[in-house]
Amino acid sequence: MQEHHASRLHWDFRLEIAGTLKSWAVPKGPSLDPAAKRLAVQVPDHALSYMNFEGVLPEGTYGAGRVYRWDAGRFLPEGDPAAGWRDGSLRFRLEGSRLRGLWRLFKMKGREEGGRALWLLQKLPDDFAVPRHEADTVGELKKPKKASKKRATKKK
Ligand code: MN
Repeated sequence: MQEHHASRLHWDFRLEIAGTLKSWAVPKGPSLDPAAKRLAVQVPDHALSYMNFEGVLPEGTYGAGRVYRWDAGRFLPEGDPAAGWRDGSLRFRLEGSRLRGLWRLFKMKGREEGGRALWLLQKLPDDFAVPRHEADTVGELKKPKKASKKRATKKK
């Protein structure tokens, strides 16, 4: 999973399925709280070699901005992940440093955004669940634009 400081901060979730990296952009980042279902926008597959990419996508290219490796580890699917991908329903165990335990990822029927299928990423209850968890950021967040400095008024 990568933390991507593009025009909007998001996390890119990638799973190795059928020899490629199936990929989703998660605007709010993953949550370890089973009560939180996080929107995961399906984005194009990436080559396996991209799994550990970290660096800067230059200005003028798609997704321009800095990419940090946020988490990596083993992906242990329940059942055949290629069938799960096709059917829009995946259940799996993660053994990463930040994301662990049981998860599911399922497609919202008939929902899309700009031609991209919308899925939800959800932690399933187990010992790795953390109520009200929010993803941390490893990169320095872009500072909000400073308000123009107030002109000092001369005291009379
Ligand atoms: Mn991205």
